[in-house]
Amino acid sequence: MLQPKPFKAPVYITEPLLPPIGDTAAIFKKIWESKQVTNNGIMCRTLEKKLADFLKVKHLSLFSNGTAALQIACRALNLGGEVITTPFTFAATPHALAWNNIKPVFCDIENESMNIDPGKIEELVTKDTAALLPVHVFGTPCNVEAIDKIARRHRLKVIYDAAHAFGVSIEGKSIGSFGDASMFSLHATKVYNTIEGGALAFGKQDLKIRADILKNFGFRSESDVQEPGINGKLNELQSAIGILLLEKIGREIEARGKITNIYRNILKGIGGIKFNRDIPGVVHNYSYFVIRINKGEYGLTRDEVYEELKKYNVFSRRYFYPLCSNFKCYGSLQKRPLSVAQAVSEEVLALPLHGRMDTAFAERICSIISYIKGRAHKL
Ligand SMILES: *Cc1c(COP(=O)(O)O)cnc(C)c1O
Repeated sequence: MLQPKPFKAPVYITEPLLPPIGDTAAIFKKIWESKQVTNNGIMCRTLEKKLADFLKVKHLSLFSNGTAALQIACRALNLGGEVITTPFTFAATPHALAWNNIKPVFCDIENESMNIDPGKIEELVTKDTAALLPVHVFGTPCNVEAIDKIARRHRLKVIYDAAHAFGVSIEGKSIGSFGDASMFSLHATKVYNTIEGGALAFGKQDLKIRADILKNFGFRSESDVQEPGINGKLNELQSAIGILLLEKIGREIEARGKITNIYRNILKGIGGIKFNRDIPGVVHNYSYFVIRINKGEYGLTRDEVYEELKKYNVFSRRYFYPLCSNFKCYGSLQKRPLSVAQAVSEEVLALPLHGRMDTAFAERICSIISYIKGRAHKL
């Protein structure tokens, strides 16, 4: 096999979806004319309505980022004590708990879905457990039915971290319709973005009202401050970007699906490389393409592949490594072994993916992965 050429320019894990620059002038002009640039203006309110419709959820609030949204969700639900979550997630998930003086309790994950293992949740429930905070990792839905049963049995609240799951549905039901609240991150690296931003979807209106007060310093009215809130508002310019991008999201997800299929079709022929397939009944959003590398079969460790790819100007990411439970700040909180999560975190590698990526790039990345396997013994 001929050695593949390195890419001329770096290929990063993703590129933000942006509206054509020319499209921004007209909508920004409206904001300039209104002179309202933030504080729940027309753009923010419009986007909240459009997103609630698009995501098929009853109530939705926008925030300055997903982490603030998650922090506010914990407050709106009056959580304290302990919350059971997954160690295989982005730092923001347990941090949102810790910032509310809530103790994150880490539960092991399922090997296949890489999501929290419902079979291991109940042994972690104590008298201090207030809620569950599962994550739909890489947009793969959690076992929502099993989680719902556990929550009802122990009277626990459920907040889903749906940061990766924008646009995902299960049997026609929106991913944002499960639990008490679901958080979507609208950060530039996500499938759909407002540059920075976040959203909470709720089934109940009183939660939206409370969250809207909490994101605006606790103001219930001009002179009535109900409680110490924070500033978690999304501004008008970013909301306008969100309005423009909502028209592009369908094609973005479609294009990501195409790249994903190219990756899958080529990589399935390489021993030691595994990846997840689409799940029947689930509408996927192709937010990440993650491979799992079996060192025994492939000949290189995940870290070696990660370093090798850099030599070809390909910048993959080790999502999620290290586990949150291995962070210095959470190291002492581990109650049970997290052996599945530990093994998964040492195998995973996210490859470059976005809707505007050249299909030939995906093919070349696969060639590199195939080529370096053949040379494993020579490194
Ligand atoms: C991106 C992300 C967040 C945080 O969202 P921000 O909008 O960046 O604050 C939370 N959880 C997960 C799993 C994420 O990937």
